[in-house]
Amino acid sequence: MTVIERFLKYVSFDTQSSEDSQTTPSTAKQMVFAEYLKSELEELGLEEISLDENGYLFATLPANMDKDVPVVGFIAHMDTSPDMSGEHVNPRIVKDYDGTDIQLCTEENIVLSPKQFPELLDHKGEDLIVTDGKTLLGADDKAGIAEIVGAIAYLKAHPEIKHGKIRVGFNPDEEIGMGAHKFDVEKFGCDFAYTMDGGEVGELEFENFNAASAKVLVKGRNVHPGYAKNKMINSLLVASRFVSLLPPVETPSHTQDYEGFFHLVGMKGEVEQTTISYIIRDHDRTKFEARKCRMQRVADFLNAEYGEGTVTVELKDQYYNMREKIEPVMHIIDIAFHAMEEAGVTPKVKAIRGGTDGAQLSFKGLPCPNIFAGGLNFHGRYEFVPVQSIEKAMNVVIKIAELVAKR
Ligand SMILES: [Zn+2]
Repeated sequence: MTVIERFLKYVSFDTQSSEDSQTTPSTAKQMVFAEYLKSELEELGLEEISLDENGYLFATLPANMDKDVPVVGFIAHMDTSPDMSGEHVNPRIVKDYDGTDIQLCTEENIVLSPKQFPELLDHKGEDLIVTDGKTLLGADDKAGIAEIVGAIAYLKAHPEIKHGKIRVGFNPDEEIGMGAHKFDVEKFGCDFAYTMDGGEVGELEFENFNAASAKVLVKGRNVHPGYAKNKMINSLLVASRFVSLLPPVETPSHTQDYEGFFHLVGMKGEVEQTTISYIIRDHDRTKFEARKCRMQRVADFLNAEYGEGTVTVELKDQYYNMREKIEPVMHIIDIAFHAMEEAGVTPKVKAIRGGTDGAQLSFKGLPCPNIFAGGLNFHGRYEFVPVQSIEKAMNVVIKIAELVAKR
């Protein structure tokens, strides 16, 4: 089976995860796919294959050399986004893409056009796997799974390529932020790993946001408006002052690259009581802490005017930038970098403006940068992946295995 045949087989499984579920995996259909993948790994002759009750599938390709080298892992997620259906995915390959509009669905006139998606033009002359316009594709992250399994199959078939012990790990529920939660890092037993879950060819990521949520509670004092002079505190007005006291340009719509922000995500209230919700993001840990302090200072400022206890801020850290966990093992970035170059790919190091499973795994003791899987326009009907990108990512996995053994 070629890596593309694998990929097309994988997207035929509906593995959409669900935010409304309390179970792991969040949907039973992910387990169906996990069982199928397990049988593929068995067929490939892998060892130490385990699929636990939470849907985490691990396996080993044993070393084929004596030298003692680090154990490296490759990780991808099995679920697809709750944002769009992944049922009856009906992919089509547009061969030798000529740079024009691609009609995804004629009856509903759904068109994948370089006018909206100029990145299509970077893939002129390549073979693009697209949807029929009715579902997402699932390249996020079944491209990653196909690349890993494809690379393992290749290494199996080419024993002349020497490598150490390699572990593969496929997890559920990444799209609902729960992919790393029940990932048994100890059982996985790797010195370091890579998630194959990035987008465009060349992406190499080992920095993400530090993240916190803030719930601001404003208590008012309601009095009949005709007799309210010097008595009423309108929590809605205090809340709006709170909002206006945060820097107006430090919001998602005015920031990029390494710029952090306060993001107002909700406001709900009446005269008596108002709640405001924020998320706080910053790559820099010091600036991140300063942002949290700033929220508290705004609350203190307003409390000085309206009375202690009018405004309370409840802060909760969500995740941290994996960079601090990667820095002590920077050679794993060098390895990925050189593997890409050897696979003919120009590495593009980029800071993630979000979080990843890899970040959580890094803080659980498994340093885990993220590498491109090749797909674009994730989570919707315009998702596509070039055949050539999948092949390149697979080659990067093979090269990493090779380079780890050579060091
Ligand atoms: Zn993904």
